[in-house]
Amino acid sequence: MLELTGPLNGPARRSRAVALLATGAALTATLLGTASGAAHAVPTTARTTAATVAKGPVKTKAGAPAIPVANVKAHLNQLQSIANANNGNRAHGRSGYKASVDYVKGKLDAAGFTTTVQQFSANGSTGYNLIADWPGGDTDHVVFAGSHLDSVSAGPGINDNGSGSAGVLEVALAVAREGYKPDKHLRFGWWGAEELGMVGSQNYVDKLSSADRSKIDAYLNFDMIGSPNPGYYVYGYDAGLQSLFENWFAAKNIATEVDHEGDGRSDHAPFQNAGIPVGGLFSGADYIKTADQAQKWGGTAGRAFDACYHRSCDTYANLNDTALGTNSDAIAGAVWSLSGGTTTPPSGKVFENKARVDIPDAGPAIESPITVSGVTGNAPAALKAGVDIKHTYRGDLTVDLVGPSGRAYRLKDSSANDSAADVNATFSVNASSETANGTWKLRVQDVAAQDVGYINGWKLTF
Ligand SMILES: [Zn+2]
Repeated sequence: MLELTGPLNGPARRSRAVALLATGAALTATLLGTASGAAHAVPTTARTTAATVAKGPVKTKAGAPAIPVANVKAHLNQLQSIANANNGNRAHGRSGYKASVDYVKGKLDAAGFTTTVQQFSANGSTGYNLIADWPGGDTDHVVFAGSHLDSVSAGPGINDNGSGSAGVLEVALAVAREGYKPDKHLRFGWWGAEELGMVGSQNYVDKLSSADRSKIDAYLNFDMIGSPNPGYYVYGYDAGLQSLFENWFAAKNIATEVDHEGDGRSDHAPFQNAGIPVGGLFSGADYIKTADQAQKWGGTAGRAFDACYHRSCDTYANLNDTALGTNSDAIAGAVWSLSGGTTTPPSGKVFENKARVDIPDAGPAIESPITVSGVTGNAPAALKAGVDIKHTYRGDLTVDLVGPSGRAYRLKDSSANDSAADVNATFSVNASSETANGTWKLRVQDVAAQDVGYINGWKLTF
């Protein structure tokens, strides 16, 4: 999050008043039971998600999976390593920032996202925004979650804002893992040069056409979600998005407060100025926790939410795991709820090849084909490949699924240490870019000498 002494974005504050007025008007219309009137009451420059409010209590249980905090921490561990290898920081214009972008992009690409790196210039250096689109959903209605990925130059920036970046990343990866099919289009963003005054996100918003701006139903911002002495703050700029998060926390008996410490100081501001409804979460920076807050949230009264804010001690040790995990779950809850989708269960159509195919010892790859027909459209994002291989040392084997397009999806790497026998497993593959009908192949190669085996059979479940 941007320091208070930094260059505050003037329009952000002006437009905030507009947004609050608009929200108030929409809410009033809703309370009066004139939901359709709300549309007239809301200036076009500051849309809100009043329609969500009008429908009554926002559903927070839309099938969002729990987000494993260990996964979020694994990303943060990587960001710490990146800082360690790059003069202790991940700041704009420094090598640690670009390495951070490369790390996040690599994870998203492998999971099936369509990623774009957008360049801009700030303070004489090239900056980078990373945008990831999940294929599918109605692109006229975009649900967008983002966080800034840059640190200040003073330190590794693990809470500010590795935490938000890792939480959003793991939620995006959960979308892929779940084979989630949202009704709305999902987009995720990691912003550069936020600490210079939201330069990256401002650049992104500036480049959007007015038509594209109007397609973003909600922008959710996460800038610091793992503060070591945490508070649970919800952005109060849009009534619908505010109540979505407040209801989520209330259902877990966690008290929240409306955030003001972050007003105009993070990447929601450029979106808000462009009339896009914004929401978000925040666990506190250098404001001091009061006795009342310590009573309801735990932690230490009289101490900053993050005493290492913008300091060299904002390291992997500067995190509260409970806040990090809870807020990551809340991000998933909001993304699932707002995008209103389903995880389409598999049709259950099974195609199987039970023919034995011998795998030559330390030899070339062999393949076993399955011809799929009668399935309309593309393969699912969670195509199940059931593999049955007999082998006396399975670590010798690499196993790939090859789609009708010829693209190979790695199911299993070789591993010299894995001395167990046989591969008996069902793998989930995001094959949503493949046409379902056609010839699929299981490709197996034995890359080490001595042990031998054969494909005993395999199957695909659509
Ligand atoms: Zn910051």
